[in-house]
Amino acid sequence: MSSDAATVSREVKRRRTFAIISHPDAGKSTMTEALALHARMISEAGAIHGKAGRKSTVSDWMEMEKARGISVSSTALQFNYAAEVADTDVPNVINLVDTPGHADFSEDTYRVLTAVDAAVMLIDAAKGLEPQTLKLFQVCRHRGIPIITVINKWDRPGQTPLELIDEITERIGLIPTPLYFPVGIAGDFRGLLDRRTGQYIRFTRTAGGAKVAPEEILDAAAAESREGDEWTAALEESELLGEMGQDHDQEMFLAGQTSPMIFASAMLNFGVRQLLETLVELAPAPAGRDDVDGAVREVTDPFSAVVFKVQAGMDTSHRDRLAYMRIVSGEFERGMVVTHAQTGKPFATKYAQAVFGRDRSTVDLAYPGDVVGLVNAMALAPGDTLFIDSKVQFPPIPSFAPEHFSAIRVNTADKYKQFRKAMDQLDSEGVVQVLRNELRGDASPVLAAVGPMQFEVVTARMKSEFNVDTTIEPLGYSLARRTDADSAVELGRQRGVEVFTRTDGAMLALFSDKWRLQFVQKEHPDLTLEPLVATA
Ligand code: GDP
Repeated sequence: MSSDAATVSREVKRRRTFAIISHPDAGKSTMTEALALHARMISEAGAIHGKAGRKSTVSDWMEMEKARGISVSSTALQFNYAAEVADTDVPNVINLVDTPGHADFSEDTYRVLTAVDAAVMLIDAAKGLEPQTLKLFQVCRHRGIPIITVINKWDRPGQTPLELIDEITERIGLIPTPLYFPVGIAGDFRGLLDRRTGQYIRFTRTAGGAKVAPEEILDAAAAESREGDEWTAALEESELLGEMGQDHDQEMFLAGQTSPMIFASAMLNFGVRQLLETLVELAPAPAGRDDVDGAVREVTDPFSAVVFKVQAGMDTSHRDRLAYMRIVSGEFERGMVVTHAQTGKPFATKYAQAVFGRDRSTVDLAYPGDVVGLVNAMALAPGDTLFIDSKVQFPPIPSFAPEHFSAIRVNTADKYKQFRKAMDQLDSEGVVQVLRNELRGDASPVLAAVGPMQFEVVTARMKSEFNVDTTIEPLGYSLARRTDADSAVELGRQRGVEVFTRTDGAMLALFSDKWRLQFVQKEHPDLTLEPLVATA
């Protein structure tokens, strides 16, 4: 493996895999497009994320999505970027893993974040921290993912930099360490003070923000004579931050305590190059991962990967099921036969694809940090491991505490067989968790999800892929606890409580609310009631 190991090392070093976490409308799609523009993947902004004309959308795949204008699927965009700060002479490879962009929350969002090495927290300058950003931030913190903060829409009126910095520090305890400080207040974005070099990066607008914004680099004296008070104000605030110790510190960043910050306008393409340079310079390259026994699978070890998302029905003309894997170690070559750790069975990778939205292209070679879609992956489920040569199994992706519960039933009895089949498939894909108990019977399972929109996904897919009409009935539970058979009997006698068995065998007690739970715990302190893995 030695010459291979050298190749893998080199490839790993130039890779960066990240996701953008943001609240809807903060500008994630616009920023994605701006990044693609800077990497010369597209020649003009507006091509991927059609604005007025909407030529094609990035990752819409279901009718429901189109109707709602949201993205349910998670895909990955890969591009090369020749960074100035790079210490390699070949371009860097950037993998941007797309997080679902809707306000509702699903397990997919969590799973995607298990596949990245860094996150860019994109914040609207006028709105500051918003609920979805906060939730996603909690997941990143929980997983120890370092975060780069981008204040977007600086071309529009918004808060002051120090207000935004204070808000982030106070509300989430993450200390922003701006790398690039804005010159000009929000709404009058002139350029960026590079706090580390003291230089001024002055931007020029292009028509409609369709092209990369030209930059002019000026020294402090030239900046002052050009921008006058605006420059002086930026300098003073930057010095103030320096006095408070808010300068970049790589160790603190990697430990999730501080966050390098950039002010930007995705729409005008201001600050976008700086974000790419920051990713290359500061975000960590892919690293080895602990297996279930705590031993590290190093990036240079033989091929291994984790499936982090499974998706069906992307292509209505062929019923296919696509599994996305993030490569952990070694070189992946299309056609390779790998072993599925969960079943011990071989899996042929003849149809490995890079997928972005509806566009697919064949992947021939891939390295740690890359995301590859595997077609016809009927046996693969999120959290599964694939490997060659020496066996490895990575820990399962924690399943997150559901907060929404609905009963589902099939509308016509003659479709029961298809219904069961569909239920099993959606369950194994991890679209929802499926709970059953004797009282309700097999024909009427209960679905548990992190966000209620997952129920709509289930009914839509039941209809479109399996031609089964179903009815969903929300249940009055909002809380689940893990319990055991001994406690189940007593729990079954309690009002506002119902016990179920999940497909993985776990027993869950559902409670109407936290007061009900507290009451039961107080009356029966001996019952087993453990929180499920929660991130927030
Ligand atoms: P997403 O929901 O996070 O993907 O947000 P979009 O990228 O779709 O952007 C939401 C809206 O904000 C759109 O109307 C964008 O044109 C606009 N927008 C995004 N970035 C900027 C920016 O930097 N400046 C301004 N003025 N508008 C922006």
